[in-house]
This record gives sequence, C-alpha cells and structure tokens, in this order.
Amino acid sequence: MLAAVVEKFGEPYTMKQIPRPSPPEGHDILIKVLAASYCHTDSVFAAGDLSQELPRIGCHEFAGEVVAIGPDVAGNRGIATGVRVGVPGRAYRPCGACYECTHPGQDEMGYSPYCPHAGNLGLTRDGGFQEYCLVDSRQVAPLPEGLSATQAAPLMCAGLTIWAALHHDKVQSASRVGIIGAGGGLGHLGVQFAAHLGKEVIAIDANDQSLGILQRIKQGLGYVGSRVHIADARSTETDDIRAVGQDSRGAPSTEIGLDAVILLPESQRAFDMGMKILRNHGVMVVVSFPKDKLAVSAHDLVFRDISVVGSLVGRNHQLREMLDFVTQHEISAEVKTFPFDQLNQLVIQSHQGLGGKLVIDMTV
Ligand SMILES: [Zn+2]
Ligand SMILES: [Zn+2]
Repeated sequence: MLAAVVEKFGEPYTMKQIPRPSPPEGHDILIKVLAASYCHTDSVFAAGDLSQELPRIGCHEFAGEVVAIGPDVAGNRGIATGVRVGVPGRAYRPCGACYECTHPGQDEMGYSPYCPHAGNLGLTRDGGFQEYCLVDSRQVAPLPEGLSATQAAPLMCAGLTIWAALHHDKVQSASRVGIIGAGGGLGHLGVQFAAHLGKEVIAIDANDQSLGILQRIKQGLGYVGSRVHIADARSTETDDIRAVGQDSRGAPSTEIGLDAVILLPESQRAFDMGMKILRNHGVMVVVSFPKDKLAVSAHDLVFRDISVVGSLVGRNHQLREMLDFVTQHEISAEVKTFPFDQLNQLVIQSHQGLGGKLVIDMTV
C-alpha cells in the first residue's frame, strides 16, 4: 500500500509502497483511510522541531472505514466493520493505570488523552498518510451519516481542539468571546461553533485571505451571523475591539471588554493584544504553543483578576458531542482537497498560507 513517510527532517514526504499493517490486537481497529487532513503540527514535526524519531508516517487528523477489529473492542460504542470513523491522533494505547487513565471524567475508564504513556498517531506512531492505519477504537468516534470523510478529517484536530477550548470550565459561561487568528484552520471552525453556541464572537485576524474567509463564514451562518463581529487587527484599535458589539457609552473602562479570548497564533504580540481586550475577571485560553515562553504581566493577573489557561485537544465524549453539533447546525470547514500522490504540493500550498484546511482525499 502507498504511504507518505517523513524520512529526513526538512525534506518532502517520501511516497513509497510499504506492507499493510498487521491484523488488529486488543482495542485496536484497522481502518481504510478515506481522508487525511494536514495540520500545522505536521509541518512542525517535519521540520524536526518536536524531536521525534524517524521514519514516521504523518497525519493526526483523518477519517476512514473500519475493515477489521481487535478482540477487546467494546461492542457498545458503535464501532464495527463497515462503519466510518473520525480519528484524532491523540492517545493511542494509553496505559490504563496512571492517574489520568483512572480519572477519565465522562470517558471510558482506562482511557485519557492526557495519559503520558500513550502514543500519538502521526507523531510517535504512524498516522493517516497511508492507505490503511491501525488506530485505537477508544480514540475514534463513528461519523454521522451525511458528514463526508473530507469534512470530518479537519474536525479531528482543528475542530476538536477549538471545541474543547470553547468548553473549558472558565469559557462555557462567557457570552463575549474573542478568537485571535479566527480565519485559520481552528479559528474558522471556532467562529461557527461559538456563534451557534449563542456567544457573541469577535473574530480577529490580520491578513486579507483570512478576513475573506471570515466574511464568507459570517454570511453562511444565516441569522446567527449577526453574532460574529470581524476585526482587522492591522487597522482596529484595541479599545475599539474591546467595545465591539457592546454599548460602552458611559461605562467605566474596567467593565468593557471580552469575557474570554482564545489565542491561536504563536506570537507574544497576539497574546499581549488578547490581554488588552479582556475585561476584568476575563480568561485567556492559550491553544498555540510557541517554542519560546509567553510573558504574562503579573499586574494583569493580580489587579485585573485575569486567568490564563491552556487547552489541549478534546476528550472522546467531546468528540462525539462535536460531531452531533456539526451535523445539527450544518457547520463546515473550508476545505481544499488533493489526491494522495500530490501531498507534497499540498504542503507547499499550506506554507503559502492559503487559509482553511487542506485535505488529502484518498478516494480519488
Ligand atoms: Zn493538529
Ligand atoms: Zn495512562
């Protein structure tokens, strides 16, 4: 079968024939990959910045059809041969015994995306850029009928990550939420989620391509589109962004601002802007992870009671909830598809910053 392999950091994928994976054992299932989406983390990995071992088959957000199941796969989770599933790369074969695995929240006992001993498909184990892939039945969710594999794949990292950020304990009750980097892969899904969740969304970006995507998203949202306020960070003062969609006449400046800001770009400048547009008691959710530290003003934490939290890709129950929500509200990613043998062209276009999500369609 055909696979795209990172053999050397800083070089294109090597497209080569390799043997099909062995039959699934334990909780594993074998899937025929139908669509595989390219994520920024794939480029970070391929550049060598995550210090992982090579060779490795990339891709940690994909979708496929189950063709074989292991002996320990639970019968009550909708996983069977012939079923289409979405696969987030996190937590392949967690240990089942650590604190995380034994405190899984609403997920299956023994399974946690935070298990430090679990593998990550596309990073520490082979991922979705191959025709067949072994995955853990506990990391996947069945796809709703009507949701195509090419639409489902980008939801598995980008979608689930921003869904989890919007459902962070400190964000759930926020009514005014800013998304910095809103026109990118995560952001353009987050804007749709947040608007349908009933929030006022201040969608902030700083390049024409992304702002164009945001205009299309806003129009496509119908009546909930009125909850989306687009701000061009290049030309809008932070004071104006703080007050977007809010009647700020006569209000003290400490009462103006957003309840929550989700930070997607890897930049201190974006972080600093996010802190400025939060109101007192607001929360900054850091989703990006720049190589260097982010500097936080203790003054903001102490005198303004701002919280800074991080958010990782979501849990399995959140994955299932997100898929239901996407179907119910007809949310879609801006997707451009490529045939598998053009993966390296996809990567070049990704580096040109096309916006939206670039996805391999394995069925063409
Ligand atoms: Zn990702
Ligand atoms: Zn564990």
